[in-house]
Amino acid sequence: MDSKELREGSNRHLFQEVSEGYTMLEAITEAKRCLHCKKPLCRSGCPIANDIPDWIHELAQGNLGNAIQIINTRSNLPAVCGRVCAHERQCEGNCVLGKKGQAINIGKLERFVADFDASMHLHHEGLVQKNRGRIAVIGSGPAGLTIAGDMARQGFQVEIFEMEAEPGGVLMFGIPEYRLPREVVRNEVKRIEALGAVFHCSVTVGHDLTIDDLFDQGFDAIFMGTGTGKPRKLDIPGCDAKGVEQAIYFLRLANLYTAGSIPRKEVPVSVGDEVFVVGCGNTAMDAARTAVRMGASSVEIVYHRTINEMSALRAEYDDAVAEGVKFNWQSQITCIHEEDGSVAGITLKTGEEETERTANRIILAVGQRPASRIVSTAKGIDVDERGYVLTRESPFGMTTRKGLFAGGDVVRHPATVVHAMQNAKKVADGMIRYVDAIKLLESIV
Ligand SMILES: Cc1cc2nc3c(=O)[nH]c(=O)nc-3n(C[C@H](O)[C@H](O)[C@H](O)COP(=O)(O)OP(=O)(O)OC[C@H]3O[C@@H](n4cnc5c(N)ncnc54)[C@H](O)[C@@H]3O)c2cc1C
Ligand code: SF4
Repeated sequence: MDSKELREGSNRHLFQEVSEGYTMLEAITEAKRCLHCKKPLCRSGCPIANDIPDWIHELAQGNLGNAIQIINTRSNLPAVCGRVCAHERQCEGNCVLGKKGQAINIGKLERFVADFDASMHLHHEGLVQKNRGRIAVIGSGPAGLTIAGDMARQGFQVEIFEMEAEPGGVLMFGIPEYRLPREVVRNEVKRIEALGAVFHCSVTVGHDLTIDDLFDQGFDAIFMGTGTGKPRKLDIPGCDAKGVEQAIYFLRLANLYTAGSIPRKEVPVSVGDEVFVVGCGNTAMDAARTAVRMGASSVEIVYHRTINEMSALRAEYDDAVAEGVKFNWQSQITCIHEEDGSVAGITLKTGEEETERTANRIILAVGQRPASRIVSTAKGIDVDERGYVLTRESPFGMTTRKGLFAGGDVVRHPATVVHAMQNAKKVADGMIRYVDAIKLLESIV
């Protein structure tokens, strides 16, 4: 990337989506390769059991309206999943065609159908009468959006409380624009709004209002899908120096900068910086690739295990390598050196060998856990020793506080978009059973 351009001009264009979508002809040609298997292994590989063969079959016939209608029965976020799911470990990894040749490119096909629907408005879902009960949803990441969509379709009045200025959670403020454009997330949110769900943004539960306030407002049940917003620190000498940043904060600021909401100087990586990113999951890979786009002169990942143990997707790793990111396997930073309180270098230990390296920025992506804002301002919500909310099997997803349910990463530990959705779908069933039961009892008494 041209450093003069980075220094003098805007670099927002460098955050444009990297992966290109299919044209109609390419999509239909790819869809026609599908065997429409009787026992579709692709479907068993999908955590939310997306009816892949049926919608691919409709797409192959050119029936895009039918294709999106089938997708909608299982997923509220097809344009997102089509882009960021680990397809090679799930649907595509199971496709029979992959055994001897090339698996169907299911992710790219799903993205094509969802994007086509967003631009052409192919399919309008009828509004269901909302007379089954009132549900509050806290947090609008994949878990909250799934609960909202599924329960609005089932006749519940749904209101979502989100502390950020826009819905979407990690999809909006974590995953960078070049992998998941914000407009794609906004379109998914609009589809959920069109089902009748109401969003209240810039409202922090546990600060602006409490769980008790929500129950007092007459909600029959509450869902807590607040994710893992509290990052882990590194306990090494120099870890509090200026220039040590948390990856999720860095990515949030980079997303706000590319959206035009803050100036570039507020993003804590400057042109020419020497950056080390600690960790090797999705967050680390996004932070490294974003640092490259912000004009860092060198970006290196430091990971204490081997390449085979990294949790990031192989495709993400390949892209990072192609963009110039270097990897230090089985390595750790043992000391951060400071000059006038700012990061000036590190001691990097690889095996038994220690080397001194210069550095300006250390970005930490070493794990996250839930914040305690809600739990500390409400009675009766039990959590484990790391702050993850404990839930029951029956009704599925209910916490130790009656009527309060939880799901997604705040329960399951940081996972993936589709696993947060999978869990939330089961919690939605639990909430429906719970609210139907209390309404029945109320009608008898
Ligand atoms: C940088 C990054 C990249 C990732 N890349 C991928 C990827 O490529 N593929 C993939 O499958 N997964 C990826 N993941 C993981 C995935 O994004 C998460 O597993 C998923 O978003 C979890 O969904 P969730 O709804 O449980 O929580 P979140 O998405 O974290 O949403 C929680 C929401 O709750 C809101 N909230 C929190 N507290 C309150 C409160 N007190 N009041 C009101 N609102 C509140 C937050 O603002 C947020 O909007 C990535 C994660 C990160 C951080
Ligand atoms: S396993 Fe592959 S070929 Fe078979 S239905 Fe699924 S996508 Fe089509």
